Amino acid sequence: MRIGIIGAGIGGLVAALALQRDGHGVTVFERQQRPGAIGAGLSLFGNAFTALDAVGVGELVAPLTSKDVAMLAAGQRRPSGRWLVRMPPDASASLRVLHRADLHDALSSALRSGTLRPASEATVATDGSPTLMAAGSSESFDLVIAADGIRSDARRSLGLDPGVRYAGYTAWRGVTRTAVNVHGEAGETWGRGRRFGVAPLPDGRVYWFATQTLPPGTEFEDERQAILDRFGDWHDPIGELVEATDPSAVLRHDIHELARPLASFVRGRTILLGDAAHAMTPDLGQGAGQAIEDAASIALLLRRHKVDDAVRIYDRVRRPRSQAIARRSRTAGRIAQFSAPLAAHLRDTALTLAPARIVGSAVHRVQTWTPPQ
Ligand SMILES: Cc1cc2nc3c(=O)[nH]c(=O)nc-3n(C[C@H](O)[C@H](O)[C@H](O)COP(=O)(O)OP(=O)(O)OC[C@H]3O[C@@H](n4cnc5c(N)ncnc54)[C@H](O)[C@@H]3O)c2cc1C
Repeated sequence: MRIGIIGAGIGGLVAALALQRDGHGVTVFERQQRPGAIGAGLSLFGNAFTALDAVGVGELVAPLTSKDVAMLAAGQRRPSGRWLVRMPPDASASLRVLHRADLHDALSSALRSGTLRPASEATVATDGSPTLMAAGSSESFDLVIAADGIRSDARRSLGLDPGVRYAGYTAWRGVTRTAVNVHGEAGETWGRGRRFGVAPLPDGRVYWFATQTLPPGTEFEDERQAILDRFGDWHDPIGELVEATDPSAVLRHDIHELARPLASFVRGRTILLGDAAHAMTPDLGQGAGQAIEDAASIALLLRRHKVDDAVRIYDRVRRPRSQAIARRSRTAGRIAQFSAPLAAHLRDTALTLAPARIVGSAVHRVQTWTPPQ
């Protein structure tokens, strides 16, 4: 089959590789000249690796990661450094952390040459027929996959767009220039309306993130200084991690998600995949994981079914799971960002009392993926 993909993000690239390895003719249209060249770290869990393995892409990604991160003590801490809750070891056993740029490079360089068309913006047909317009001409396919991100034009053109919603907080991300010792501890530290997360990369550099509840569009003259002003007096090694990061490499994004779950991921022979279908808050570290599950699902379904059946089943299996995870992620983010003193105090007390068994089983459901039939 001939398959046209819009977007060379993680979702589009995994779909492209999986489908190309199954013998399909794949073209990826990407509006940027150098997609994925920037970015910080990324957490992926067992569900993403099961999906990558199911379509033969796992062995490309595994060397970019290390099991060491799963050996660290993880969970939630107070700004003083005292643990609120430690994750049971099996809840973080499948966690791997990698650098986004490494993942993009590995995936895109494994595509056959000529598959990826950079600097090429594509638009879908509004009735979902598998035709793409790019550079003033139209190309026909048997299936179109729109993996064009949270602000997907394809979703709008297909009449499926609910708009996006500000989640109420902003997030900074960075990776230290050199290795920093985290003393065997990672995870998140929760204050009031603020969080700081630590996730070491396989080479000892550390991916970190920081959040704050703020009005959308808030600007800072010096982003790194803004983080130091807010988190500099939190426990070690938070200040050291921020100081060890190039100011120009600090990223910040106001966090958005889809305003409502979509009624369908499919129109005709055009499907939405990844953030285009279910952009969620990053609170469970599952946005890319769900994009990878989508990509593996459509590839596996096309091995067993005719294209029209495959897209129908794709919609049936992918919507409930990805939308439930998006809902949980939103709830987790709201709780984690509590800024009123009483609410934050009650949250912290509940966390210290939460039985590890319950925390572990909720996490297990999210981190387990079953291939569609
Ligand atoms: C702060 C933060 C932290 C996160 N942390 C994690 C994490 O730890 N783990 C995790 O799993 N997820 C995480 N996520 C979510 C994750 O980054 C996304 O879910 C994932 O990258 C989405 O991938 P995608 O391929 O669907 O979309 P994108 O990565 O947005 O890719 C879309 C691509 O389509 C291209 N494009 C758009 N329109 C067109 C067009 N018309 N023609 C051609 N090309 C087009 C864009 O240029 C882009 O390259 C995080 C997100 C944020 C904001």
